[in-house]
Amino acid sequence: MAARSPITGEVVAELREASAEDASAAIGRAHAAFAEWRKVPAPRRGELVRLIGEELRAHKADLGRLVTLEAGKVISEGQGEVQEMIDICDYAVGLSRQLFGLTIATERPEHRMMETWHPLGVCGVITAFNFPVAVWSWNAALAFVCGDPVVWKPSEKTPLTALGVQAIFEKAAQRFGGVPAGLSEVLIGGRALGEALVDDHRVPVVSATGSTAMGRQVGPKVAARFGRSILELGGNNAAIVAPSADLEIALRAIAFAAIGTAGQRCTTLRRLFVHESIYDQLVPRLKSVYGSVKIGDPREQGVLVGPLIDKAAFDGMGRALDEARALGATVFGGGRAQEGLGTDAYYAAPALVEMPSQTGPMVRETFAPILYVTRYAAIEDAIAMQNDVGAGLSSSIFTLNMREAELFVSDEGSDCGIANVNIGPSGAEIGGAFGGEKETGGGREAGSDAWKAYMRRATNTVNYGKTVPLAQGVTFEI
Ligand code: NAD
Repeated sequence: MAARSPITGEVVAELREASAEDASAAIGRAHAAFAEWRKVPAPRRGELVRLIGEELRAHKADLGRLVTLEAGKVISEGQGEVQEMIDICDYAVGLSRQLFGLTIATERPEHRMMETWHPLGVCGVITAFNFPVAVWSWNAALAFVCGDPVVWKPSEKTPLTALGVQAIFEKAAQRFGGVPAGLSEVLIGGRALGEALVDDHRVPVVSATGSTAMGRQVGPKVAARFGRSILELGGNNAAIVAPSADLEIALRAIAFAAIGTAGQRCTTLRRLFVHESIYDQLVPRLKSVYGSVKIGDPREQGVLVGPLIDKAAFDGMGRALDEARALGATVFGGGRAQEGLGTDAYYAAPALVEMPSQTGPMVRETFAPILYVTRYAAIEDAIAMQNDVGAGLSSSIFTLNMREAELFVSDEGSDCGIANVNIGPSGAEIGGAFGGEKETGGGREAGSDAWKAYMRRATNTVNYGKTVPLAQGVTFEI
């Protein structure tokens, strides 16, 4: 298969695609590694992840540049993605000494009840093109300390970065010594390899990141064999700009969240609800940002917007803009930019789309830099509109009004997995649990207690007395 760079559209390498037999053998090796790895004490498993973090620090510049080459991210975002990998490794090292359960009060005398957490088994990781390396690490760093081997099926659009990460893993494994063969496997190729992970009963947990369409297929299949899935799917993220908002910070946060990464983040800002009293102040300023943003080769200093991943993404953007125009929208920007960089390279001018109401393409995710804007009058209506879409990943409010801010993050507020105040919806830190509700899939990765999805929980009751009292006062004579 060909690996190509969206910067020029050129093929940069030819790679051998894994076969179904290769996939089965890799899962078999990982399954065998599980029997060994689960016996290694968790803090020692953390030592491997510490070494992975060290190797990532040593190779940050190179891996970051590979992310730029293969996913088209600007240099600082490519480097930032590797920094996120380092951060989750640091987090997981600490976690390796904190995989604790509870001691629970028991109703029976001379008994003790406790909850223990055990390694689960092979973790299948399926990832999307737009975070080609970080998403592996959110899963793998946790899985390794939890005692689980990882079989990774990266996006077919970003195979080289996956091979780079595996090479870094191998360096760390060599320094660690005694890592069981098969602890980390990579399957280079297309969707069929993802399906192999989804269908294999030796893979008790499948963490799948990608479109909602993908999750709709993966979720039921994993459930049908009683596997566990962690689904991290599409977003249609919104921000509300209230009358009291600090417009300077709102403008900056909105611009980065909507335009950055060429609109190709799951947390990209796609819908903006602006209070009618400030609409005519904010929207013209946004337009001037849209008009002056530097689009081009992401390796160049000062460029904020790199290429879309491919022609299909560019065509999808065009279709969404046509649909919006037919619904009476006013479109500012959009269209192809930088044609000189290659006929098969697709750069798009970010589009700001003033919608008469929330309808048509505004209610679904188009993975491109389109920001739909509409007015609102009452905060309750803005929150209702923000929640009235299929996806439930990330959301923000810009306000200095404490009642509005608290309402937004309350039970009656945003229904998303991420709800922010006075920052944009994109750019999460690894300390919090990352993921979203509804068609975003419900999975959580990275921080907080996301590690529990990679382990199995057992409730243990121990009787240290000389009788066998039954729970609920049940009696039984023999
Ligand atoms: P995609 O759904 O086309 O592909 C994602 C991965 O799933 C690829 O590795 C692909 O080969 C695999 N795949 C596709 N169908 C499959 C199937 N039926 N069974 C098993 N594997 C299958 O997504 P993409 O275009 O690479 O990425 C963009 C999408 O990912 C956007 O919708 C974006 O919002 C989403 N995303 C979500 C998150 C999150 O954390 N919620 C993060 C990044 C991207």
